[in-house]
Amino acid sequence: MKIYLNLSFPQLAARYADLPSDGVGLLRSEFLALALGVHPRKLLAEGGAEAFIRLFAEGLTEVARCFWPRPVTFRTLDLKSNEYRGLRGGQEFEEPEENPALGLRGCRRYLYDPEPFRLQLRAVRRVYEAGWTNVRLMLPFVRSVSELLACREILREEGVGDIPLWIMVEVPSVVFLIEQFLPLVDGISIGTNDLTQLILGVDRDNPRLIPLWDERDEAVMRAVEQVVRACRKRGMECCVCGDAPSRRPEIVTSLLPLGLTSLSVSPEAFERTAQLVRTVEPHSDLPNPL
Ligand code: PEP
Ligand code: MG
Repeated sequence: MKIYLNLSFPQLAARYADLPSDGVGLLRSEFLALALGVHPRKLLAEGGAEAFIRLFAEGLTEVARCFWPRPVTFRTLDLKSNEYRGLRGGQEFEEPEENPALGLRGCRRYLYDPEPFRLQLRAVRRVYEAGWTNVRLMLPFVRSVSELLACREILREEGVGDIPLWIMVEVPSVVFLIEQFLPLVDGISIGTNDLTQLILGVDRDNPRLIPLWDERDEAVMRAVEQVVRACRKRGMECCVCGDAPSRRPEIVTSLLPLGLTSLSVSPEAFERTAQLVRTVEPHSDLPNPL
């Protein structure tokens, strides 16, 4: 059982790289885009493609360097239309949506508006070609096999087709059809935050519904189990990178017997999670963080 870290800010990589983790299971790229502060289309219109690539490449290089040779899983952007609209140029370049959580996000956005996705891939390629071969790519909010195939084609065109490719399982359609996705990727990471929202039909951002947004629900656990079982059959890595194990330590003891190969948790939850894993998995070869 591996334990990875979830990171959002590359500048914090140095602080957390000393933890005896197995690497970064989820590097959220959204904060790089928010740091740029401008809608990607606006930036492109202003001739800022190189600034975009450079910022992303520098952020990823910092994390890859700090964690070398452990893997660093770079998740491409999963900002929603309401978040894009908050950026400079957002009102001009981003149409308002009634329901951004179900809107133009994740992989679907890459097909609708490929250029910002291509810039991210160019950043990843630059980092990889500079020798940081511990990076891997992860696509968020995949909804269908056809979408994944179309994204893989773009990866190939951008020269990153050989970099290990992971996808997030966040949409129930992927759970039901998981066997069709597995031959197309190198690893799976279950995003329990969005998956719970969509399985239970509960808006994760609505404070009045928070008590209902519960990953421990039997329906969510069954979905996780189904994905893990399919991965085990193919001998593939299967991780949970949603916040469930970080926010609810008790869920770790329910998740481990399902046969996950890894968990990815917030740095604050690392030591507690490692301890729990040792308790449930007495022969764990994890380094003792205490
Ligand atoms: C998730 O949905 O579980 C996840 C890790 O992605 P995010 O929280 O960034 O939407
Ligand atoms: Mg998500």
